[in-house]
Amino acid sequence: MVMEKLAAGLEKLGINAGEHELALFQIYYEELTDWNQRMNLTAITEYDKVQTLHFLDSLTVPAVWRPTESRPHPRVIDIGTGAGVPGIPLKIIFPQIRLTLMDSTNKKITFLNHLKQKLGLNDIEVISGRAEELARQQYRESYDLVLARGLAPMATLAELTIPFCKIAGRAILHKKGDIAEEMNSAKRAIATMGGKLIEIKPVELSEFPDNRVLVVIEKVAPTPEIYPRGQGLPIKRPIQ
Ligand code: SAH
Repeated sequence: MVMEKLAAGLEKLGINAGEHELALFQIYYEELTDWNQRMNLTAITEYDKVQTLHFLDSLTVPAVWRPTESRPHPRVIDIGTGAGVPGIPLKIIFPQIRLTLMDSTNKKITFLNHLKQKLGLNDIEVISGRAEELARQQYRESYDLVLARGLAPMATLAELTIPFCKIAGRAILHKKGDIAEEMNSAKRAIATMGGKLIEIKPVELSEFPDNRVLVVIEKVAPTPEIYPRGQGLPIKRPIQ
């Protein structure tokens, strides 16, 4: 059987993955490690580790968010998706979502376009560019769900993600370790972007002994037009 670690983890999370889904994850693994020999996509390449640290970790999101009957085809964006996480694993499990993958590195975009073909998944848009700039275009306030993992510290992250959320949409941000101070110094940035912290959901899986959490933010007010700032300011001078 393929993807045994992933299957065991998903069972604990109450997520059903059939043979078809596991076969897609297997293709994903093979393409990722193949392309990774020619370009730097990820430092994690070992079979078991890719299953847990990339795929299973992405799929902790359904603990706090799932497509609903009233909104069966939600729009989801993954900002700074890199090799496609957490967006692609979520799309494999919920094929009905309309997914946008965004990254500022062109070689990652090339890989993602190839992967999308290999997996045969519909409704995936792959966009190259910086979040600060793309949030001023048609992507602004257009998504039911905004995802980001490993992109930036929380204050910067708030400015790079919340502008993409629709009102009443959510940002679900993967974090790990002790984030109390990071959250504290991001309070103002979250509020300024029109966000409201809903919960910090601990991920309680033996696969992750490093205090992983999902930070859940709801968009409660429009983001003021001046945000996100350009010229690298969200990174160089985060809102304090
Ligand atoms: N989400 C992936 C990759 C994290 S690394 C994972 O969890 O494994 C961060 C990624 O964000 C890199 O691929 C980098 O190219 C991209 N990135 C960094 N700054 C960005 C920005 N301002 N806008 C869009 N993408 C950005």
